[in-house]
Formats: sequence, structure tokens, C-alpha cells
Amino acid sequence: MNMTASSTQTHNKPADNIAFTDDVINSESWSVEDSAQLYGVRNWGAGFFDVAESGDVVVTLTINGKNVAVPLADIVTGMAERGLHMPAVLRIENVLDQRIKQLNDAFNNAIKAAHYQAPYRGVFPIKVNQQCHVIEEIADFGRAYHHGFEAGSKAELIIALTQIKDHRSLIICNGYKDSEFVELGLYARDMGINCVFVLETVSELPIILSASERLGIEPVLGVRIKSTVVVDGHWNKDSGDRSIFGLSTSALVDVVEQLKAADKMHCLQLLHCHLGSQIPNIRNIRSGVLEACQFYVGLIDEGAPMGYLDLGGGLAVDYEGSNSTSCHSMNYQLDEYCVNIVETIADCLDPLDIEHPVIVTESGRATVAYSSMLLFNVLDVRDHKPGPLPDVLPEDSHELIKNLMICLKSLSLKNFQECYNDALYYRDEMRELFRRGQSSLRNRAMAENICLAVLEKIAALLPQVDRVPPEMANLPELLSDIYYGNFSLFQSLPDIWAIDQILPIMPIQRLNEQPTREAILADITCDCDGKIDKFSINQQIRSTLPLHPLIDGEDYNIGVFLVGAYQETLGDLHNLFGDTNVVSVRIDENGDFEFIHEFQGDSIADVLSYVEYEPKRLLEQFRRTAEQAVKEKRITVAKRQKILKAFKDSLLGYTYFEHE
Ligand SMILES: *Cc1c(COP(=O)(O)O)cnc(C)c1O
Repeated sequence: MNMTASSTQTHNKPADNIAFTDDVINSESWSVEDSAQLYGVRNWGAGFFDVAESGDVVVTLTINGKNVAVPLADIVTGMAERGLHMPAVLRIENVLDQRIKQLNDAFNNAIKAAHYQAPYRGVFPIKVNQQCHVIEEIADFGRAYHHGFEAGSKAELIIALTQIKDHRSLIICNGYKDSEFVELGLYARDMGINCVFVLETVSELPIILSASERLGIEPVLGVRIKSTVVVDGHWNKDSGDRSIFGLSTSALVDVVEQLKAADKMHCLQLLHCHLGSQIPNIRNIRSGVLEACQFYVGLIDEGAPMGYLDLGGGLAVDYEGSNSTSCHSMNYQLDEYCVNIVETIADCLDPLDIEHPVIVTESGRATVAYSSMLLFNVLDVRDHKPGPLPDVLPEDSHELIKNLMICLKSLSLKNFQECYNDALYYRDEMRELFRRGQSSLRNRAMAENICLAVLEKIAALLPQVDRVPPEMANLPELLSDIYYGNFSLFQSLPDIWAIDQILPIMPIQRLNEQPTREAILADITCDCDGKIDKFSINQQIRSTLPLHPLIDGEDYNIGVFLVGAYQETLGDLHNLFGDTNVVSVRIDENGDFEFIHEFQGDSIADVLSYVEYEPKRLLEQFRRTAEQAVKEKRITVAKRQKILKAFKDSLLGYTYFEHE
């Protein structure tokens, strides 16, 4: 495979093959509206993305009352001018700010409307995106809302402690805590930081109580319960009896007993209930809140002061844009989520005359998903088109080839099933002859070519067929192109590999043209899992993505959207593809943008050092090999210098495919 866009000759032909798109639409009448609909950008974009008349995907924002729309292609050009090439993660800081604002506004509005008597205090779970500049932006922008952090480990607590500058913001400590973790959290309390330890197990309690006694600092405690609400979606095992997190009801009673014995019931102030991530169904959320409220009431009955109800994460992102209960979607809106929570708590506690607790949520993906996208260029396309076929076959052609040609010429809606069977039969016969040494390379190539032409013609007929025979159902997929993208699935989109995550994917330019090809995407790792073949198209899950034929000498860039949550650090170094370039951009009210942060991705030397090679030593080892070649008179000293320079340049270069 030749990895350059310019080597693909067959792709800039006019759209003569629209075989696999569901609705055959005249290319002339194609508009950006059709593209917006096809890729669902307005369904999953939450108002942050759209398609402009120019055919570009734009970031859309309202800044100081002005609507701006910035083409991603312009940002990509700006990046290239600064030496930051594809693939790259692009973060839009304004989008992150907007999400924090939307989340807080939605809760505050629901609180106001319901005359709820306590505030909302969001915390961002650091595990969802630990990158320094993301966390700093959340801390800076979130300060006005007293938005805090959730820490699940010592390292994350250390991050949170450096970011919180506001005593009304919370730090919620989940996860397993040793005495070092606990001491840090207690010192934070001493300094006025509102740090809460949430008990995951009974065994943590003695560790906390003894550290507290040692340092003479009182803790504020929370308890994490196991909810028995069974939720839809991928993370439904975070709740239920077998959840690996949280206290069983009897363990909870045990904690209460121990606190009473130690005369520390006044420390118990928070109830924590996390139903799972990405909960697609609003009914599950309501049930979870109801159950959490009953635990809250139970603890008040036991004599705990309480004051905080932490409902964990779970606010979903509509990656599919289908507004459904599918596990990559959601059947509710942000406002609805907040209203549901606020009303459910009030309805539950008001009849009992219990004071409204501060509402805490730990929304991770809903906060950060929108602000990051992965952008990559397409390096090459392997189409599955038949090669050139002769109009008339030479007289002396092989019988099987003649038969195949008859299939192709006679194919119609009436006989396509017969032609399908025959074509495969003749092709397989030819392959059999070839294996036995009774047919030539050229005969086999011709037979395969004609067979492919038959299959392609059948695929084009399928949309008109009432009942598609099961054996032909995956023809469009079998005949689809492979677009090779300059990225590593394992490094940049690990959830697609690990949990079949659906993410919105679309070209970022030429959307005023009809995409006439159907493709799957392959990455540049040498792994057959390194491909994407599930897409949300027209609000349906499809195995191929409509794309445009490449144009010689023109970059074709694809965006994978909503990747701000979980993707940045879960990735790995498969085939030693390292971190990509990353840029953070801030857009202003004139639609101009500023590069706030730029990070060069890993160099080859970087990734090699992660697996314990020393770049200096590698250079020395290679120098010796080259010097030996000089000694053996295979190369000149001048050549040696040239070779060593190439080696050094590679070592310092990007791990991804670089343009000349
Ligand atoms: C992972 C996690 C979250 C974040 O969940 P999202 O669905 O991303 O909002 C919140 N709280 C806890 C305890 C978690 O484990």
C-alpha cells in the first residue's frame, strides 16, 4: 500500500457509483442540509457543531451575544502553519466552559422553579479527563459556580488539592483510601477545603478515624451505597447487589454502629449513589434518586446530620444522536435530568419535613465529551471496485470466464439470485483450477474481476428488492471501500475497541458535495482490530460511513467528535503509536481563534523510552553498525553521515505518518 493521497488515481472520477447509499439522490441537488441530516450533526452536536454553506463543519457558539461559526478546516490550517500536523486532538475551551455553565444553569433553574431550599454543587470526576489544561480550565471557569472535583486516587486528590481555591467547592474522595490519602484530605480540611471522604468499604472507617485522632482533625464522611436499581446501558453492573462498589445495607448499618461507638455520628453528612455511567433512560435515574432518598432518610433516622446527597455520574451523552434508550444515546435532555432529580428529592423529603440536602452530581462525560475531537487525514483508499473489463472477450477465453461474462451481461432484477449463485460458483471453480496449477494468474484475476462486477451490480439492485436474501445482506459492507486514516484506534479511540463505543464521525469538508462512497475506516496499526465499522448514519447504526472520493493533492480530513471523555488517557501504545499533537483553541466574538496551548505529540524517541529503550544508546548502537559498514567498505563515510542523520531525524520525529 502506498500511503499517499496522490497515489490514488481512481477516486476523482465523477460519481458514477452510488450503489450502496440507501436513497439515490441526484448529486446536483445535494445540499449541506442533506449532509447535516445524513451525519446527524444537529442531533449529537448539542448546538456546538453544524455544517456551513461552504461545506465545512463549523463550531458554533454564542459569545457576548454574538453568534459565531468557525470552520474546523480553518483551525486545521492554523495548526499546520504552526507545525502541528494530523492526527491531532483539538480542544475548544469555550465549549468546555459552556458545558459547565449549562450544567450549573440547568440545576439552578430547576432549583428555583421547585423552590428547592439548597444549592447544587457539581464536582468533576478527574478520571474522565485528567489532562492538566482541561482540569485547570474546569477549575478556573467552574469557580464562579463552586464547581469542585471528584478524586478516586491519591494522584487525583493531589490534582484536586492544587486546583481548588474556593471553600464552597467540594472535593469528593471516592475509591480506596490508605492513611496517606486520608492524611492529605484531613490537612485539606484544616486549610478550609471542603474535602469529603466517601466510604467504599467498612474497613476504611478505622483508617480514617485513627488518622483523624492522630492529626486532631475531624473528617466529613459520606457513605456509598449499592443501589439495587437496574439500569439500561453498558454500565449496568455499577449498581445492583453484585456491584463491586459501595456498601451493602448491612455494611451501612455496621458503619453507623461503629460511628456511634466512636461518638462520630456528627461526621456523617453525605450519601453517595452512582448508578453507572451513560444512563440512557431517564426512568432509571428517577428510580435511583428515589432509592437514594430513602437511604438518606434512613440515615437521618439513625441520627446522622447529613446535608449532602451525591448522585454520582450517569448523565449521558447522545453519541448516536438518536434520542433513544440505545446504550450510546439518551432519551432525555439536560434540563429534564435536573428537574427530575430536584423534584424527586423534594417530593420524597417534604412530607417528612426533612431539610433539602445540597445536591451533588459527578457528571464526567457530559461535561467534557463535547470539547474535544480527534482529527485525522486519510492516507489512502482501497476501493473494492472491479478492475478494467473488456467489452468483448477474446475468442479463446476460458469457458468459466465466458460464463461469468454472460452472468454480468444478463443480470437483472428478475434473475439476480441465479446470477449471484452462478458468479460465485464460476469464480470458485477458477480458484480451484488455479490451486491445482491448471489456470493462469491472469485467468484468475479476470474471473475475480468479473465476479466482483456482478456483485457490485447486484448490490446496486438491492434497494429495489422487497426481501433481500440473507446471504446478500452484507454485500454493501463486503464491497465497501477501506479508507486508511492517519491515527491509532488504540491510542486515540480506545472505547471503540474495548466496548464498541459509537462516536459521531464525519468528514469536516466538502459537505456541499454528495458523499458517493461507502467505507469502513482502518487505522495505521498493523492490527485487524484497528478499524471502525459501526457508524450512526441517518439515526441508524450502519456498518459503513458515506465519504467522498479523494481528490489528488487535496487533504481529506475526518473528525471523530465527542471524544473529550475517557479517550485521552485510556489509550495505549499499540505498535508504538504515541500521543497525538494536541491543541487548545479559544474562539472570540469575532469568530477569530487563539491557540492557547500547543503540545507536540510523542516523538519516536519518547515512545521508545516508555518501553525502556534509551534513545542515546540506540543511536550509539546504530552508529556502530554504520561504522562497521564503512570498515567493510560497503558505504563511504559521507554516506554514513547521511544515514546517521536520517536515523536521528526519525528518532525525533512524530510516530504517525508525516507528509513530505
Ligand atoms: C466514572 C464515575 C463518574 C463519572 O461518570 P460519567 O458517566 O462520566 O458522568 C462519576 N462518579 C463515579 C463514582 C464514577 O466512578
